[in-house]
Parts: sequence; structure tokens; C-alpha cells
Amino acid sequence: MPELTESVARLIDEFAKLPGIGKKSAERLTYHVLRVPACEALALAEAIRNVKENVRYCRVCYNLAEEDECALCRDPKRQPDLLCVVEQARDLMALEQTGVYHGLYHVLLGRIAPLEGIGPDRLTIDALAERVRRGSFKEVIMATNPTVEGDGTALYISNLLSELPIRITRLARGITPGSVLEYANKEILTDALSGRQEF
Ligand SMILES: [Zn+2]
Repeated sequence: MPELTESVARLIDEFAKLPGIGKKSAERLTYHVLRVPACEALALAEAIRNVKENVRYCRVCYNLAEEDECALCRDPKRQPDLLCVVEQARDLMALEQTGVYHGLYHVLLGRIAPLEGIGPDRLTIDALAERVRRGSFKEVIMATNPTVEGDGTALYISNLLSELPIRITRLARGITPGSVLEYANKEILTDALSGRQEF
């Protein structure tokens, strides 16, 4: 087998660090990059640079944003008294794709996972509590994943907010326990939203 050049070996190593990409796929992607026109390959590099330089967390809800506040928080058509709490921005995307939810969001940036040493202080729970205390929300929907950790996180937050005069609900169990929101299909998520129950 011929020796790889240093640059080629480096690109293979970088691709192999991506989730779900093994050595073979990393090699295939590298040879693809070598084969396509420079402008096409550099567009990928530029897109990665752009995301890292321009994307940040919304200062209100911690969704991904390219300004201080995300597009959802700035949208006057969103229902201002309804708040949906999710673990990750990709869960928010999954719920948005159903098209049936018109309230606001709060992204936790994870879930409480004692076994991994992730406590409530590592998430955006303080900001959430502050936002709910200050805001005019009538209902907070817990839309963490139906896993042991997602349920534990939802329970922790509902206890934290329990003294406030708001309704706290949980997505209905249309979603199979253990499954992850981002992989649930649109119909299941729509049912889970419309059938939400008191916590
Ligand atoms: Zn936002």
C-alpha cells in the first residue's frame, strides 16, 4: 500500500473523529474531497468555519442563534404564555417540524445525569427558573426525552417551579420510553403534544 501524504492522513483522522464515521468512511470522504473541484470542497470548509464563528446560544432560550436572540424569540407571532422545555436544540427542531406548537422554548443544553457527574448547575435550569418567575407564562411543557434521565430532569424542574401559579405539563407517552425526541416522527410528536398531561 502506498504511503499517504501527511495532509491526506490528517484529513482522514479528522473525519474519523466525527460521530458514526469509522476509518473506512473517513477514507471514503477524504477521497471524495480530493476528487471534487476545489470550490466544492472549500464550501464545506467555509460552512464549518461559519458555524463556529457565527453561531452562538440565544441569550433568552439557549437555542442556536446568529444574533443575541434567536429567530423564535424574536418572532412576535409566537404565543408568549406557553413555554416548552427541551434538552437540545435538535429536539426543538423536531417539535418545530410538527408545525403544531406555537409557543416559546427553553433549551437545557443537556439533562441531569448523576452517573456522568452532570448536575442541574451544568444546565440552563437557573436561567429557566428566572425566566419563568419573571415571565408571563401560563403553562410550561416538559418535553425532555422519555428516558430515566430525561424524566428525572423534568421532575427536578417541576419541583423547582411548583410554587408558581402556572400549569406544568409533560408530553403524552406516545413516544416509546427510551426513544429520543429527535428521532420520533411528526405524527407521534403531534399526538404527544396535543395529549400532554398535568405533571
Ligand atoms: Zn431564543
